[in-house]
Amino acid sequence: MPFSHLTDNLDKLAQQGLYRSRRTITSPQGIHLQLGGKSAVNFCSNDYLGLANHPAVAQAFKDAADSYGVGSGSAHLICGHSTAHHALEDELAAFTGRERALLFSTGYMANIGVINALVGRGDAVFEDRLNHASLLDGGLSSGAKFKRYAHADTAHLEPLLALATGNKLVVTDGVFSMDGDFAPLPELAAAAKNQGAWLMVDDAHGLGVIGKHGGGLLEHYGLSQEDVPVLMGTLGKGFGTFGAFVAGSEVLVETLIQSARTYIYTTALPPAIAEATRASLQIIKTENWRREKLNTLVARFRSGAEQLGLQLMPSSSPIQPILVGDSQRTVAISNALLEAGFLVSAIRPPTVAQGTARLRVTLSASHEEAMVDGLLDALDAINGKLGQAAL
Ligand SMILES: *Cc1c(COP(=O)(O)O)cnc(C)c1O
Repeated sequence: MPFSHLTDNLDKLAQQGLYRSRRTITSPQGIHLQLGGKSAVNFCSNDYLGLANHPAVAQAFKDAADSYGVGSGSAHLICGHSTAHHALEDELAAFTGRERALLFSTGYMANIGVINALVGRGDAVFEDRLNHASLLDGGLSSGAKFKRYAHADTAHLEPLLALATGNKLVVTDGVFSMDGDFAPLPELAAAAKNQGAWLMVDDAHGLGVIGKHGGGLLEHYGLSQEDVPVLMGTLGKGFGTFGAFVAGSEVLVETLIQSARTYIYTTALPPAIAEATRASLQIIKTENWRREKLNTLVARFRSGAEQLGLQLMPSSSPIQPILVGDSQRTVAISNALLEAGFLVSAIRPPTVAQGTARLRVTLSASHEEAMVDGLLDALDAINGKLGQAAL
């Protein structure tokens, strides 16, 4: 029978605690979610700044739907590029301190498109082992020589770069999505410069969230367009909307418009999404309190978790994973947390390495300190109930 292995594969995943299923949310996105007829405090979204359902962002979306309608009608290069898209690109370029910015429909597509437009056969691409799947897929599909270097290890990377020929592209997450730590961007930028390579940073989890003005990891480290020629950001996380962009030089952006296939052959975002994103960018630029609040919550969570003896990772971002190890146990704890009214997702292989399943706790500027304390109390109670080794 053709494809008879599919059922076996699904059974195997279930046996290993690796089966994935969706939870249907019936409320708006936010820190209080309704699911399965009950309410839970949300500790797993990437809406770090609480903008996904912000009134000003939602209003901008509604007003733009009134003036633009819903669909963009076509790809950007045909007739789908509106004044809303164009204004957002200009504002994102200014915000990131780059010459130009170019919108993509998703971050996944941006990463595939950029890497494929920049390198191919005869070139080489270097990626951190813990890079996001879209960056790895972009590198693998490009036809360039593909090398992974040890996580955040510039000393491992540099000799590999020295041996390579052709155009060389170093690619890294800014804030690592499943660990929450920062890439060593100043060292990576120096190594890339020394070896005649370009550095590309995917700051999906840093933009809006890190840096005094929300400029992300590049603001945090003070890195220019020359240091990091290719900056990619997503709009569905800290920005609270949807889509992605790439920022850099005039030449980079014009190259992408001519040759990034995931830019050319896809429908432009709805213009109302672009207008909603312009509203969220205003909030990101002006409301520093959201980032300050996040820092307070991160510190409170870390000190409480340390007192409980939970295994944290070296992260100062709102991504605060608790390492559990075993996949089944991670799922059991996640389920017990939901029973207690807290939604925390169990992240398992292949998203993370074998034996490193974790509870990926994420904090939002909309959380209250009492909610963080409540989560810690629930973790402590589950530890007691499931036995010493639970967490
Ligand atoms: C979420 C994410 C992406 C993908 O962005 P989407 O807009 O959701 O497709 C890319 N890179 C990183 C690091 C991410 O966390």
